[in-house]
Amino acid sequence: MANPNFLIVAFPSQSHINPALQLAGRLLRTGASITFTTTMSGHRRMSRIQASDRLTFATYSDGDEEGPRLVNSSMESHMNETARRCSEAMRQLIEASRDKGQNFKCIFYTAVAPWVADVARCYDIPSVVLWIQPATLFEIYYYHSNGYGDNITNESNGSSSPTQLPGLPPLTGRDVPSFLSSSNPLHFLYTLIEKQIQVLKEDGRSRVLVNTFDALESEQLNAIDELELVAVGPLLPTSEGKDSSGTSLGGDHFQASRDYIEWLDTKPVASVIYVSFGSVSTLSKPQKEEMARGLLSTGRPFLWVIREGGHGLQEESEDRLSCEEELRKQGMIVPWCSQVEVLSHPSVGCFVTHCGWNSTLESLMCGVPMVAFPLWADQLTNAMLIQDVWRVGVRVNGNEQGVVEGGELERCLELVMGGGERSEGMRGNAKRLKDSARKAAGEGGSADKNLKALLEELVSS
Ligand code: UDP
Repeated sequence: MANPNFLIVAFPSQSHINPALQLAGRLLRTGASITFTTTMSGHRRMSRIQASDRLTFATYSDGDEEGPRLVNSSMESHMNETARRCSEAMRQLIEASRDKGQNFKCIFYTAVAPWVADVARCYDIPSVVLWIQPATLFEIYYYHSNGYGDNITNESNGSSSPTQLPGLPPLTGRDVPSFLSSSNPLHFLYTLIEKQIQVLKEDGRSRVLVNTFDALESEQLNAIDELELVAVGPLLPTSEGKDSSGTSLGGDHFQASRDYIEWLDTKPVASVIYVSFGSVSTLSKPQKEEMARGLLSTGRPFLWVIREGGHGLQEESEDRLSCEEELRKQGMIVPWCSQVEVLSHPSVGCFVTHCGWNSTLESLMCGVPMVAFPLWADQLTNAMLIQDVWRVGVRVNGNEQGVVEGGELERCLELVMGGGERSEGMRGNAKRLKDSARKAAGEGGSADKNLKALLEELVSS
């Protein structure tokens, strides 16, 4: 039988596109042909990826050529418009492939996009979702939407009695995404997740591919009876910015100056603090000032990514820091970097992260312990996993205004980097998970095996 033809549909943010491209790389290695579709702004985030005879890109406009919108309530109408335009683009692609006698064998898509499954069903094509957060989050959302809504809550801001779910420590309000609460302005995001879970339940043959690995979340992967969670991760670029098929990953930022690597080369092993808040989130001015104070007070070198635009939301231009000169003496500030390359550098000793799932996995894959500095959504749960489950980091505490003060950051950094029993323990755990992650992602590892089993089933159906 001819090699199968697959369609991949990715939401246009960096955290969807990166794992979707990695999945494409793995599918290409099996001999499949891929049509990869995302918005025009999403496609710009991977401008250096070359199409080939088995990898075709198809873009559509979601009406916002600048990229994903601010994470606020205006996002809801934009998401509805994206759903409409994405569905239309998919119909055209499916019909064109039929006309050429090259039907898609399966449609893979990054969650959360339940409309993709609706279109796939209209054409009687199987669809498989790629969950781009940890299995733990899927478990929390699943139980929340299946009768445990009153127990899994952050309504009382952490004072409610902790909830116990399979494979997890008791969860308090600060461990679960704030938009679970119906009074939260972003609750529509949870409604979309609920719809996604409902769609999966209705589709009798449902499997959920999860960007995680068995050794990291084995209990969580098996915590749901009616759906099968399949670990296909970690789906991550290598430090050279290449995916498993040799395709170059990333966007224009890979062309930016790489002085920071030369600067890292001059620093002692495990001495540098790397600070980044991903591709979407930003810090308030007071929070940035506190961050600066905390970094300066450690006396340690640091590499701090402060985005200046072109990648997600723009940092406010008037947002200059009062102590910029001192900061530049002790560390380096860059607008963007090749993060996997930075985390793989021997000089990096700690990652101050917003706990986005890609950043978290990248840190685990590189064995770098973390200071968990979550801002919202799944980041809160990921911070709990980092500190309490995998014990590879320390989570910061905010003050009454929700600001993490410089002294608190310094305290956490010293716990991670200062030596001593706890610090050594975290380093040892990070090393163990790094080894498991690499084994899972390597040739013949669990990621390959699990994906192969799914493909065999799809192709034989
Ligand atoms: N990233 C990067 N360079 C930077 C900042 C971020 O390459 O300077 C990448 C990072 O490696 C990760 C992605 O952007 O793959 C961010 O995804 P994550 O899920 O961590 O956070 P999000 O951007 O969705 O909040």
